[in-house]
Amino acid sequence: MNDMSMDISASANMNIRFSFDESTATYSCAAFSDIVNRFLSSQRTQGMLLIDLDDIKFISRVKTKAVSEAVVALIVRNIYNNIPNNAIVGRLKEDTFAVFLPDLQYEGELESIAKKLILAHREPVSYNKENYICTLTIGGVQTSKVKIDDLSAESLIEHAEIAQNKAKQNGKNQYIELEPEYLEIVNRKAYVLTLLKETLYNKSFRLNFQPFFNMRTGRLIGFETLCRMKDPKGGYIMPDEFIKIAEENNVIFDVDFAVLEYVCKLLYRQKNIDFKGIISVNISSITFVNPMFIPTINNILLKYSTPRNCLAIELTETAFLESYTKAKANIISLNNLGIKILLDDFGSGYNSLKSVLDLNVNILKIDKSLIDNIHEMQSSFIVEKTIEIAKLLKMDIVAEGIETRTQFETLKQMDIKAGQGFYLGRPLSEKQFVYHLNRKDDFDEYL
Ligand code: C2E
Ligand code: CA
Ligand code: CA
Repeated sequence: MNDMSMDISASANMNIRFSFDESTATYSCAAFSDIVNRFLSSQRTQGMLLIDLDDIKFISRVKTKAVSEAVVALIVRNIYNNIPNNAIVGRLKEDTFAVFLPDLQYEGELESIAKKLILAHREPVSYNKENYICTLTIGGVQTSKVKIDDLSAESLIEHAEIAQNKAKQNGKNQYIELEPEYLEIVNRKAYVLTLLKETLYNKSFRLNFQPFFNMRTGRLIGFETLCRMKDPKGGYIMPDEFIKIAEENNVIFDVDFAVLEYVCKLLYRQKNIDFKGIISVNISSITFVNPMFIPTINNILLKYSTPRNCLAIELTETAFLESYTKAKANIISLNNLGIKILLDDFGSGYNSLKSVLDLNVNILKIDKSLIDNIHEMQSSFIVEKTIEIAKLLKMDIVAEGIETRTQFETLKQMDIKAGQGFYLGRPLSEKQFVYHLNRKDDFDEYL
């Protein structure tokens, strides 16, 4: 152990001394924060490393807790051998340590310490004549690089954790240092999540409706519902950004059902409409495999007496990857309810055919990437084969993302009957959508 931390523990109060972990010679979480907070200074460049011992839980599981603790002690000794004398080390969890560097001397010192640590732990440690490999995943933050408003041990750890999470996502066993851009991303995500929760609470999503057309007659056959969120700073936040955040934070189920319920309510309010088109709603794979999916959809349909034959659910293949049996059961339930199933982004995945052959999907929506490259042999071949399969299996096809006249003509020649895209029609406002809903002669019954 180093001199500075010895001094601190000697002069510290009982509470801190009590919080010292003898086996690893590190401070406990609370004591670590306490000590680091005393050493924080805006006059110096300081750094925090958050270190995960990647394989400790595994070692503990296949061996014993005593063995894993002995390995941890060896690793921590190794860590001490590779950090400056004035560093302070705390144990935050069974397999997580933090190292505070109170006085970094040169640009890149934090990175060089972290990389030395990573390298040192690619070699096994020996305990009781057995070798154990335990790699490290490290996130770091340096006070001269990132502006931290309320500088404290906790905030430094939180910031180092942002970088560490990125290192984990990249596949562990590596070091990532917090850059101001990551912080912007994290702040943006927090902003969008707060807004998502407010929008859900106030039921204030804005919906757009993008038309599907009959390629031959040019008449409408339906609309796809697309969700937007109004940004108090101006403009809208688009689903490409907020759906992922909703999925990561467990609110996607509520978002998808807020949209579905809104659509059903809208249809309910149009008294006596004789609508023969299709209205589709995008449902995330996470929502689809939730056990409450079918009961919730059932409730909404009953509550608003929604005509089943005009509703379609747009799913992507990921809905079938996680639990195939569950997905299959849900498809059957939807079929029984009379709701159509549209497989979105078809042709962008690798297992498209399996999903289509085994499941009772009604409509294939050919992915925009294939339409973008329809002038190329490979894409046009895939589209032609898809049309053949769809004919065999009695499924309908929609081409999405049609942007040019050439694409439109090519697809029409291939005998694709339905299309969607900016060339044919941009997403419409709710008002424009309702206008069309009440003009049944605008529609062809196709799907
Ligand atoms: P998607 O289902 O593939 O929807 C098509 C997206 O492409 C829409 O973007 C649409 O505006 C855009 N688009 C349509 N035609 C064209 C075209 O010709 N050219 C180009 N460049 N783009 C075109 P949007 O509205 O931003 O939606 C993005 C994605 O967000 C959707 O992709 C869908 O996966 C998801 N999404 C939208 N609303 C919801 C929702 O309520 N729930 C869930 N789970 N996902 C949603
Ligand atoms: Ca879609
Ligand atoms: Ca799509």
